[in-house]
Amino acid sequence: MKVILLRFGELYLKGDNRHLFESMLIRNIKSKLQGEQFKFEKTFGRYVISGYDDGREKAIVEKLKQVFGLYSLSCAVELPATIEAITAEVEKLQLGNKTFKVFVKRADKKFPLSSMDFAKQLGGVVLSKNHQAEVELYNPQVEIHIDIRLNGKAYMFYDTIKCQGGLPLGCAGRGLLLLSGGIDSPVAGYLVGKRGLEIEALHFHSYPYTSELARDKVLTLAKELVPYVGKIKLHMISFTKVQEMIHMNCSPEYMITIMRRIMMRIAERVCENNNLGAIVTGESLGQVASQTMQSMTVTGGVVKIKPIFRPCITMDKEEIMAVAQAIGTYETSILPYEDCCTVFLPKNPVIKPTIDRCEREEGKLNIEALVEECLAGEETIVVE
Ligand code: ATP
Ligand code: MG
Repeated sequence: MKVILLRFGELYLKGDNRHLFESMLIRNIKSKLQGEQFKFEKTFGRYVISGYDDGREKAIVEKLKQVFGLYSLSCAVELPATIEAITAEVEKLQLGNKTFKVFVKRADKKFPLSSMDFAKQLGGVVLSKNHQAEVELYNPQVEIHIDIRLNGKAYMFYDTIKCQGGLPLGCAGRGLLLLSGGIDSPVAGYLVGKRGLEIEALHFHSYPYTSELARDKVLTLAKELVPYVGKIKLHMISFTKVQEMIHMNCSPEYMITIMRRIMMRIAERVCENNNLGAIVTGESLGQVASQTMQSMTVTGGVVKIKPIFRPCITMDKEEIMAVAQAIGTYETSILPYEDCCTVFLPKNPVIKPTIDRCEREEGKLNIEALVEECLAGEETIVVE
């Protein structure tokens, strides 16, 4: 019988919470495969998917590769864990003139042969049926794995396909991703998702300074994250008035700093209104003036209770771009539509803002009223 073997790693570390983590992982796997025909079985330290149509195998594998908390998978053949059954299956292999190695793993130590002896014996079986094949211990072209489990079953497979790793989505709670149209914030959303944080997203637009296309771009980015982080409630807030007021009243070098402090205040309110426990941004240390230590001190400083997660903080742009490419958001992120931050961009933003100056600049505005006005105009879209 053809099956897909699923392996999970870090769940083991979680002690008493393990059951909770596992039930979340299983729930996520099943919901990922919704609409497919399949059977799910939990065996010793593995999950086994079976009962699917052969033609769907590839598609199912692709879906499973997006589930956080799975470490690897293999397309395998399930066999009774007997010498005869395994030998009969190995006899069927056609390797042509390839080099190979047989790997045997026994969880069941009562199996009558040692792993080494059985691997050697099976190697002989392969050679007797494939006269041109050769054993190669160090760098074989084909790896034949036999995994003998405790449930009376054995699995034969070639490759181990790497999955996302991480922790099951949902096990770390729920947070709010500040989603711009750039490269970094979608990556940040993916990275916290990978540690189990479910997300809603908040986007600030500056319509009519920014276009409908900029809005579509953010919707597309959210959609591209959905296969990993599940459906996203996207909060859209107009930032136009705030930007105009800052532009008219505050010192240009503090424009971005004040904007970001207001974004953070609004983000915390959106968290409170939607029961979200953390704010997530795509900031990376030193990338731009608003991402220095001093800038993050004054922008993070307005957030009273929630932690701010900045998963890209130590990553180089190149590294962030590589993740964006791997998850499929990069091409959308580089589309050239204006972001709200670029609309009123000052020439020389302050690199080391001080809290005193921020407060002085903000004294020229009615921050409370601006925040309330932004929140009153909030629009939400569920992206799935
Ligand atoms: P990104 O590539 O994610 O846009 P960036 O390098 O352009 O990041 P900034 O524009 O300084 O950096 O923004 C830093 C972070 O602030 C972003 O990663 C994002 O989390 C948040 N942010 C910026 N602009 C917006 C916006 N218009 N709406 C929501 N969040 C935003
Ligand atoms: Mg940006």
